[in-house]
Amino acid sequence: MIKSLSCFVGICVLLSACSGFEPSQQGEIRRQNAQKETIYRSHKDQNYVIDAPIHRVREGYPWEPSALSKFPKVTKEFFRCKGNESHSPHPKENSPGEFIHDCGGLLKHSLPVRSGKEFVYPILLDLLNYVQTKTSHRVVITCGHRCPTHNTYADSTAFNQSSKHMIGAEVDFYVEGMELQPEKIVDLLIGYFKETAPYAGVKDYEKFLRLESSLTNVLTPPWYNKEILLKIYQKNEGRDVDNKHANPYISLQVRNDRDTKEKIVYTWDKAFKGFLRY
Ligand SMILES: [Zn+2]
Repeated sequence: MIKSLSCFVGICVLLSACSGFEPSQQGEIRRQNAQKETIYRSHKDQNYVIDAPIHRVREGYPWEPSALSKFPKVTKEFFRCKGNESHSPHPKENSPGEFIHDCGGLLKHSLPVRSGKEFVYPILLDLLNYVQTKTSHRVVITCGHRCPTHNTYADSTAFNQSSKHMIGAEVDFYVEGMELQPEKIVDLLIGYFKETAPYAGVKDYEKFLRLESSLTNVLTPPWYNKEILLKIYQKNEGRDVDNKHANPYISLQVRNDRDTKEKIVYTWDKAFKGFLRY
């Protein structure tokens, strides 16, 4: 016991001695322990040569007018569902006392999702931007994606129950300032496939056929090629919640996916399970 106590006292004495160096003594010890090393590299030597920076013009954001068009580029954001919870419910036909309610719109659900990302078929965006560029008039999208709830609210007819609006494969629009000339817009859209790669020179895309109007819900026989179908809704046709305006309008539907070669058809799974609800 006495031995361990004396050892403890010895350590305390040693520690207090170490911490008691004067600053001048500490400096002297540091100088004695310092090691010098000569630097051989010249100030001109470079291990990594960095190229002189080159000024690059930033690419435009989609919402900025480009050199080609004075209007913002049409993107998938323009396709968001136009449903709104503040819309009054409709009485359900043949079901007294029952009502059809609208969805909560873009605040409550996403666009269709494919490979983990929101998605609409790119040919629709390409065509709408082409029209906007060629005409120098603004494209007005009246209906892009419709979730199943808004699809029923907007138009509860049986014909509409398999609408491709629900899977991001259909769009309704008119062109501001050319509202009464939908045929001109159709000519432009057909022209797109004759002058744009990878379609130009490919018969299945360049050649448009007409669909018998008895097979559709419009009087003007629609046009179609391998990838799309074009319809004109005249002033007295296709008036639904999203198309309450007084203009004729054009509907574009995707028939085949140009990348996957898949035929695009409505399915319940794609429509009801193909988007996120918040
Ligand atoms: Zn919706």
